[in-house]
Amino acid sequence: MTPNTDRNQQLFDRARQLIPGGVNSPVRAFRAVGGTPRFVARAQGPYFWDANGQRYIDYIGSWGPMILGHGHPAVVDAVQRAVTEGFSFGAPTEREVELAQAIIELVPSMDMVRLVSSGTEAAMSAIRLARGATGRNKLIKFEGCYHGHADALLVKAGSGLATFGNPTSAGVPPEVVQHTLVLEYNNLAQLEEAFALHGADLACLMIEPIAGNMNFVRAAVPFMRRCRELCTQHGALLVFDEVMTGFRVALGGAQSVYAKAIPGFKPDLSVLGKVIGGGMPLAAFGGPRAIMEQLAPLGPVYQAGTLSGNPVATACGLATLKEIRKPGFFDGLAGKTATLMNGLKAAAAAQGVPFSADCEGGMFGFFLLPALPHNYSQVMKSDSAQFNLLFHGLLDRGVYIAPALYEAGFVSAAHSEADIAETIAVARDVFKSLSLRV
Ligand SMILES: *Cc1c(COP(=O)(O)O)cnc(C)c1O
Repeated sequence: MTPNTDRNQQLFDRARQLIPGGVNSPVRAFRAVGGTPRFVARAQGPYFWDANGQRYIDYIGSWGPMILGHGHPAVVDAVQRAVTEGFSFGAPTEREVELAQAIIELVPSMDMVRLVSSGTEAAMSAIRLARGATGRNKLIKFEGCYHGHADALLVKAGSGLATFGNPTSAGVPPEVVQHTLVLEYNNLAQLEEAFALHGADLACLMIEPIAGNMNFVRAAVPFMRRCRELCTQHGALLVFDEVMTGFRVALGGAQSVYAKAIPGFKPDLSVLGKVIGGGMPLAAFGGPRAIMEQLAPLGPVYQAGTLSGNPVATACGLATLKEIRKPGFFDGLAGKTATLMNGLKAAAAAQGVPFSADCEGGMFGFFLLPALPHNYSQVMKSDSAQFNLLFHGLLDRGVYIAPALYEAGFVSAAHSEADIAETIAVARDVFKSLSLRV
């Protein structure tokens, strides 16, 4: 028997003995697509190299944070300097003030912001704040939107709008999700009905404005307008989960995209993560002064964190934001992302493969469906066997996309026109093999 020389496989075998499923976050395990996860040895610019030394063009970028690509020199420099000054103090620092100011300048719906360490923590804290500030318990979320793994948010729809949700994870007591109402994304009739039934008891409506956890699905403008109107009318807070879209789809996040279509539009609270840490554990939530001042130590809503506003993470985040604020940054990024999507569409069309795609800024999604889906159940009509062939076809040829059809993709500023062209050429080749099978 020849010894197994696949270092990825060796590491995965070892990891599975030590870490549940061999991974520290489930989607990394390739369970949806099969095969061996790639263990990353190092990354630079738009590429990473796995444990076998194989190079990949990276369209995940740590699930969004690496908007500048890997190892951007200005970010590396800022982090190296911060490290020499100390890892963590548990006391305030100047960089936290600077980062708070930068975020508030870029997201005008926020007067104040609190820094935390993960998107999960930020979303969970925003909900506690919304409940504390309104004195209400109930909340609306949408099927297919992910807001981290806090108990109250691991929930699927109940049997009707009068009933609340059911836990989607073992270990979540039904009582914990009894206040969470799960609606279909982009379904205006359900939205109206939910507010008619529960409006006076709703603390908030939480939404991914451009949902990136069911691939890429936009909230329609009339739907978003109605979310805003109903929240205002019933005294519920509109909470934008921009952990993925913030500083990713535009400098001002998805809320700036909706404000172009709906004059004066803004959410009440915003939740940020991913890009604001530039790859370090950093997230945030913020909103109007009167609401944010409900937080401890000023107000009755408790929230805290030993590593919150970590000095190395804030250095990384600040250096990242400084780069993306440079004039023309998002135009360049959006142009490359659109070129990639248009190229993939043309490549699929040439082989007669059903394909639809959408993008905003540096975030994209594509579907092996003839038309873009508008909600979770439509996304799930995608042919997963075909997707898996596409995924492995790309992977074998050095292109790394998300290992599940319900995830978005990301282009970084480090991806060159040549990287995009290479990706399209590779995809053309893979679509050819797919079309033989349909
Ligand atoms: C990634 C993500 C989260 C969770 O963030 P973590 O840092 O993984 O806890 C929450 N909401 C959205 C929209 C996300 O994409």
